[in-house]
Formats: sequence, structure tokens, C-alpha cells
Amino acid sequence: MDEFALIKTHFAPLAKNFSGALNLADDAAVIAPPPGHELVVTKDAISAGVHFTDNEPPGLIAQKLLRVNLSDLAAMGATPLCYFLALILPSSLSFSGLTRESIPMDPRLKAEDDRTKWIAAFAAGLAGDQETFGIALAGGDTTATKGKLALSLTALGTLPAGSALKRSGAKPGDQIFVSGTLGDAALGLESNDAFLKRRYRLPEPRVALGQRLRGIASACMDISDGLAQDLGHICEASGIGAVIHRPLLPLSDAAKQHPLAHDAALSGGDDYELLFTAPPEKENTVAALAKELNLPLTRIGEMVSGKEVAVLDEAGKPLKVKPGYRHF
Ligand code: ADP
Ligand code: MG
Repeated sequence: MDEFALIKTHFAPLAKNFSGALNLADDAAVIAPPPGHELVVTKDAISAGVHFTDNEPPGLIAQKLLRVNLSDLAAMGATPLCYFLALILPSSLSFSGLTRESIPMDPRLKAEDDRTKWIAAFAAGLAGDQETFGIALAGGDTTATKGKLALSLTALGTLPAGSALKRSGAKPGDQIFVSGTLGDAALGLESNDAFLKRRYRLPEPRVALGQRLRGIASACMDISDGLAQDLGHICEASGIGAVIHRPLLPLSDAAKQHPLAHDAALSGGDDYELLFTAPPEKENTVAALAKELNLPLTRIGEMVSGKEVAVLDEAGKPLKVKPGYRHF
């Protein structure tokens, strides 16, 4: 199957609900944000051997790639609009993943058939999440590489002009909240617990929450590199400090079984929960929102003057915290 047939068969159907995509049959997409709105744009790239293993099912790779971008849109308070996909496919495909749980591989198939199957499974993963999160494909590029599989996705969202949730708006006295539970994904990397494993393999971007935090949160970001490090980014951008209380960190029942749960909650990566600050008078609004969305929103501390992130233990004593994940 050549590049054009591939796009027509597997990707054009993912663009049918977005008229600006022009059925992926033109040179580029045409996008008009609603009047009075701004576009929010984010991009993430992943590659085999670094972000996923060779035998990861293609549908799951697709979902994760889309979801990490949706998490960035959520962190800005944006409503998902559309996305662009770059596929950099190895020319000699040996997708070992096809031999495992995803698709049974027929040894008689040629490499090209492997590629077609891989892409079909990948597109199916996207199709499911497009429904779940209300976003459509609007374009991309497909190219070959002599190296390993690499993928990149650019997601666009919209929001009323001026309402983006930035990292820079926190003020001393603001309360600090996190959604969901922390540390599950980091524990899931090495655990056999099904819940923890799933939390690592398939993040749950807080898309509905992000949009609802417009006008409530003074600063917001998604936690991908560990709470302590990421809160440091809000502190830096806002020019102030933060105090968090370890006993307040929200842990799942599965994480609580683990001796390193608190370390994972403070420094583990891949949570994809939202971390936000809000002035104290918004506390009831935040509580009502948690109820409405059926999603825990837990107050874990407060912003203070200064510039450090302090973590206090059960006795109120400052703790030393391991740095979070760094890519380089
Ligand atoms: P050009 O060579 O002019 O850049 P392409 O052949 O790369 O055009 O792309 C043709 C159309 O197909 C464009 O609308 C492009 O956005 C779309 N497209 C190509 N690859 C992908 C992909 N992986 N996912 C979605 N759309 C794609
Ligand atoms: Mg192109």
C-alpha cells in the first residue's frame, strides 16, 4: 500500500468530522477558531525504544501519544479541536509487537502487510480516543526512516481569548490542588498490580476539568515529571514559593499498599493529573466541581512568598525530596 492509499484508507476516516481537514485530500488544513477565541497548540514526539517498547500494541501507542497532548491542552484550559500526526515509519518493518497481543502475525505476510496491519491497529486506537475526547485528525505527514519508529502529534484546542490557564498566575495564599491520585504511574512501571500498570500505560487526560478551571485556577499545569519538580515550575513562573503537606497527598488504594507510595507521589513521573492553584475564596467552587466531575480534587498545600517548594512531613518537618524525571 503506498502512502496515498494508506492515508485514504486509514487516516481520512479519522478526519471526516472536521471539515477543515478537507478529507486529508489537499495540501493543508484550514482552521477558523470560533469568534473571540484563541488557538492553543501543543506538540509531543515519541520514539521506539525510548518512550515505548517494540512490542507495545500499536493502538495503545496511539492512545498514549494523543492523550499526553490532550493533557497539555487540559492544562491550559483548552477545548480539544483537532490534531496533526507525523508518522516516521521504518522502511524495513519488523514490528515485533504484531507477534504478540495486538495482532497475530502471519509468517506468510510481507513486510508491507505488517505495516498495513500495524497502521490499522494504530488508527483504531486513535478512533476510540477521538470519540472519548471529542477531537479529530486534521492532517499530518508520513515518511520513512532507516532508524526506529518515531511519532509526533500536534494538538490544537480553543478557548475564549485571554482565558488560558498559565503557570505564572499563582499568588501567595493561593491553595494548591491536584486531581485524581498521585504516584500510580511510577509505581505501575514496576508493579504487577493491574490498576497501577494501567495508570502507567494509559494516562487519563483531565480534559473536562481543565476547561472548567477557566476563571477558577490562578495557575495550572499537568504533572508529567513528578509533583515536586512540576510545582517548582509554577513557583518559578509565578515568582513565589510553595508548601505542600505530605499527609495530604492523594494516594490510590493500590498505591497505599506500596512502601514507596509517598516518594512516587512526590517525584514519580507520568501522572498526567492537573496541578493548579486557586485563591482561598474558590475552595467551595473547587469542591463543587470535584463532586460534579466525580473526580477527587485534593488540597495539598499553599503558595507562599519565597521561591522554594517545601514538603512537610506528618510532624510539620521539612523533607528532602528526590528530583523528578529528567529527559537529559
Ligand atoms: P505534501 O507532500 O504536499 O506535504 P502529503 O502527501 O504529505 O502532502 O500529504 C497529503 C495530505 O495528507 C495532507 O493533507 C496531509 O496533511 C495528509 N497526511 C499525510 N500524512 C498524514 C498522516 N500521517 N496523518 C494525517 N494526515 C496525513
Ligand atoms: Mg507533507
